[in-house]
Amino acid sequence: MTESLFPDAHVPPPKTQPADPDRLPYIHRLLLGYYGEPAERERWDPLTQFIYSVLAARTRTKITYAALAKLRTRFGTWENLREAPVDAIQETIADVTYPEQKAPHLKLALQQITARTGELSLDFLAKYRTEKVRAWIEQFPGAGPMVSAEVVNFSTLRRPALVMNSHHMRVAHRIGLTPRGDAERTEELLMRLVPETWTPEILQQDHALFKIHGQTLCLFTEPHCRKCPLLKLCRYGQSHVVADPQT
Ligand code: SF4
Repeated sequence: MTESLFPDAHVPPPKTQPADPDRLPYIHRLLLGYYGEPAERERWDPLTQFIYSVLAARTRTKITYAALAKLRTRFGTWENLREAPVDAIQETIADVTYPEQKAPHLKLALQQITARTGELSLDFLAKYRTEKVRAWIEQFPGAGPMVSAEVVNFSTLRRPALVMNSHHMRVAHRIGLTPRGDAERTEELLMRLVPETWTPEILQQDHALFKIHGQTLCLFTEPHCRKCPLLKLCRYGQSHVVADPQT
């Protein structure tokens, strides 16, 4: 059974706040003031980012980086990874979640990219508009909206997208930015709140801030609402504080 993103699923959902063009930028500024600037992320080519993102699903960042490094060390090139036996790939990425699924997915994707383009690279995607790039990425097994958003936003493609992991979605829901929904729908609703002036870099920073918040204060089971810089605009947090004075 798929684990719920919301341990508080029995709690009536907070009302989504009325559309306010400054709501998301305001929350962004509050999180930035509280946590400071997130660490810069190294930008990879789209193929390397794709491989990382397939490995990353439901896996801690540190473990995912280590798995990518092990693949590089063992196979040397992504062409060698494509030609490697699935068992060897699975053994190398054994520390990530679902290695028995991710290993064949990775190999198949690398084979299909080569078959369709004549080489093992995703650099050609730079000439396509963002929606087409995302659809192209999502045709591969194991690559959903989160993987495609990471490839377009985190890689050297530098396109607008908001990466929706469980932390980002949980925080967005609790503060009433979006109703509960899947990653695709939540990203779509959040992107409507994004100012036109926001660059891909600011979108990446926004995701990083939501993720840090979800890992630090707005925890899955016991959010630390009293310490939260968003408490004054978070109805969920306010009712949580009243219900549990120890929060
Ligand atoms: S007040 Fe509580 S529930 Fe609301 S965002 Fe902060 S930690 Fe999360």
